[in-house]
Amino acid sequence: MKPVDRHLADILAAVRPLAPLEVEIEAALGAVLAEDVASPVPLPPFDNSAMDGYAVRAGDVAAVPVTLPVIGDVAAGDDGLNALGPGLVTRIMTGAPLPAGADAVVPVEWTDGGTARVRIDRPAPPGNAIRRAGEDVRAGDVVLREGARIGPAQIGILAGVGWRRVLVRPRPRVVVLSTGAELSEPGTPLGAGHIWESNSFMLAAAVREAGAEGFRAGSVTDDPKEFMDTLDAQLLRADAVITSGGVSMGAYEPVKEALSPLGTVTFEKVAMQPGMPQGFGVVGPDRVPIFTLPGNPVSSFVSFVLFVKPALRAMQGLPAGPPATVRATVTAPVRSPAGKRSYLRAVLTGETVAPVTRQGSHQLAALAAANALIVVPEDETSLPEGAEVEVIPL
Ligand code: AMP
Ligand code: MG
Repeated sequence: MKPVDRHLADILAAVRPLAPLEVEIEAALGAVLAEDVASPVPLPPFDNSAMDGYAVRAGDVAAVPVTLPVIGDVAAGDDGLNALGPGLVTRIMTGAPLPAGADAVVPVEWTDGGTARVRIDRPAPPGNAIRRAGEDVRAGDVVLREGARIGPAQIGILAGVGWRRVLVRPRPRVVVLSTGAELSEPGTPLGAGHIWESNSFMLAAAVREAGAEGFRAGSVTDDPKEFMDTLDAQLLRADAVITSGGVSMGAYEPVKEALSPLGTVTFEKVAMQPGMPQGFGVVGPDRVPIFTLPGNPVSSFVSFVLFVKPALRAMQGLPAGPPATVRATVTAPVRSPAGKRSYLRAVLTGETVAPVTRQGSHQLAALAAANALIVVPEDETSLPEGAEVEVIPL
């Protein structure tokens, strides 16, 4: 059987970052920057007031109380200011440019609020309540680096430095296709021998949580031709495809039957539990990466975490590797098959981790009650209560 780490390494060696694309900044949420972003101007672009109050010469208000004439108002957005002469003040609003000659702002709270004359009760040292030009960003400073994930604050600074469009690696479009003659769409009646289809919903959501676009292509029966026709139709809009089911050792394995003859998808047994039957390769003229995951819901989920999620990061040009782990103390003994790495569903609380009781790869409710996977190495078959284990938080 193939080691888990080698399977991931093969996948990461095969996937490529998506080509960069210029998009409106509104559309950049969740994408990854494909260029450095520098500011063409300093930010703030000019000295301005941090408060509503009075622009003064600090020397004029060193001894208080003092009453001074108010020569006018400066509001945010004003330009063409007159310089402030000695012994004079002007009202000033937050964000308004500081008049030449002024070197401090007295907050309105320190005054009587007068409009013709104002009494100032507290001295303001030089520089008080002034935002200096360039104190956030100097002209030419790089404010975001290539490889940064674009969130709301990053969209804010893109706009703040005057950018309207930006070069990004887009969120990969991932089509999720389930197979199985036994699958019924949730919301429809359950026929005899059927189960409701859950994997395409779960995997499409996992794709979205991983920062990519997940599309459900629904499910097909176990007919390889139907599978292939649906896959072909979906390839147009896919940067990657995830299938579930139809890759085991039995009969009626449409994914394996349809894709094996192509010679571009490899089906292997990976030394893990759950999730042993795995397939990966490329399909179609554009050589779209395809992950053929096993159908058992817990197996497909664990496979996503271990293999697909890192691949989606690599496709976004981000550093990619195995999922991050923490160490914790296990609250009950655990068992694991020899020669396979186990991923046990568990509840992680602080520094302890409690395996859930139902560990079957079909037991999706137990997965939904878990928030972590305990990793048991290939050479361990059991670990006692109190053992320190490696845990993947979900
Ligand atoms: P397979 O990998 O196709 O042999 O399926 C393994 C098990 O997973 C079977 O019990 C299937 O009924 C179940 N299964 C397969 N696909 C799905 C799905 N999309 N949703 C829920 N269960 C599934
Ligand atoms: Mg099946």
